[in-house]
Amino acid sequence: MDTVRKLSILGSTGSIGVSTLEVAGRYPDRFEVVALAAGRNADGLEEQIRKFRPKLVSLTDASAAASLRTRLNGLNVEIRSGIEGLIAVAEMSETDMVISAIVGAAGLVPTMAAIRAGKKVALANKETLVMAGEIVMREVRERCVELFPVDSEHSAIFQSMHGQRREDIRRLIITASGGPFLDTSEAGLREVTAAQALRHPNWSMGKKITIDSATLMNKGLEVIEAHWLFDVPSERIDVVIHPQSIIHSMVEYCDGSVIAQMGVPDMKGPISYALGYPKRLEETGIGLDLVKIGSLTFREPDLDRFPCLRYAYDSLREGGTMPAVLNAANEVAVQAFLDGRAGFMDIPRVIRATMDHHRNTAADSIEGVLNADRWAREEANRQLQL
Ligand code: NAD
Ligand code: MG
Repeated sequence: MDTVRKLSILGSTGSIGVSTLEVAGRYPDRFEVVALAAGRNADGLEEQIRKFRPKLVSLTDASAAASLRTRLNGLNVEIRSGIEGLIAVAEMSETDMVISAIVGAAGLVPTMAAIRAGKKVALANKETLVMAGEIVMREVRERCVELFPVDSEHSAIFQSMHGQRREDIRRLIITASGGPFLDTSEAGLREVTAAQALRHPNWSMGKKITIDSATLMNKGLEVIEAHWLFDVPSERIDVVIHPQSIIHSMVEYCDGSVIAQMGVPDMKGPISYALGYPKRLEETGIGLDLVKIGSLTFREPDLDRFPCLRYAYDSLREGGTMPAVLNAANEVAVQAFLDGRAGFMDIPRVIRATMDHHRNTAADSIEGVLNADRWAREEANRQLQL
């Protein structure tokens, strides 16, 4: 008989959060949901509370939390708000594992809180490692925290490393679908609308990561994430376009052998792997029909049409607070694009200009990283006006 794993989910109403609850809900004898945190979706959270009966929840806004309290009058659930609420969900004493699935920079502080509280962490929020990878991984090591990647590429790499010697790794090969504009010309990319960019060919995800997938910034963020998770230098992390999204990533070893992990593109796969580790949950995924898929193809990414990927590598080489600046400028530019205030190619323009104006410093504290993030948001907003 397995012991019940108690879960806190940060970002429970998002794409990853909902999939996580779907997986956990299939195994009520293995998982208990004890705490949930969401941003603004009070209705979605209410539904989840009624179904999963967590003991603690949190919403960003205090007045939304108050009105939820009135609606849930009689249910035994503590409802909190703001950053304190998020941290309480991350640190909750009963919790064994925290699923970090908030989108963007807002994920950093609660994820750090979970690590400092010694929880197992299933990490979907890649921005945490992009912003503060060195600090976060130092804390993970010092506290002997078990950190499981949820991002499909990193889950694939993690799975492809089992039973291998770290020193035998030659390089990591991260696959990318290429997004909806893989074959769009440079001129065509300037005309792209948010509605077009939100139509991803293979994956259904939150809006921000869907735009990141269309610009290839998502892959850039993943290169940085892989660098910190697996301690491999950027020169030995390659990206290859693989439009079918069947191979989720690979590890090449010193004898030239390459180990890949495959599966249908469905985040419930890597989520299940992280939740159940070291056991694989039976019946979560459908297998692969390779004959039906027919062929797996690969090509090089075009860094001229998709400069965001190049800028991510640049920021990693430059180090310090530069990746946090890249990340913040990207968040600002993506939001402007989604709001119709900026064009698709303004995204790389704003990121490059913000990076060029940044006076880089060592990223030696969370406070320092958050200061760089704030500075970059202001600068990116200024660049958007130009
Ligand atoms: P989403 O936009 O669908 O969901 C985000 C969740 O975070 C929601 O519950 C929202 O209410 C909450 N949230 C947003 N801002 C918040 C704030 N300031 N405070 C508290 N809660 C807040 O996003 P998603 O697609 O689920 O992605 C979540 C994270 O997982 C991202 O970092 C993304 O890069 C990563 N990721 C997602 C996928 C995917 O398939 N969706 C795959 C790999 C990695
Ligand atoms: Mg990914």
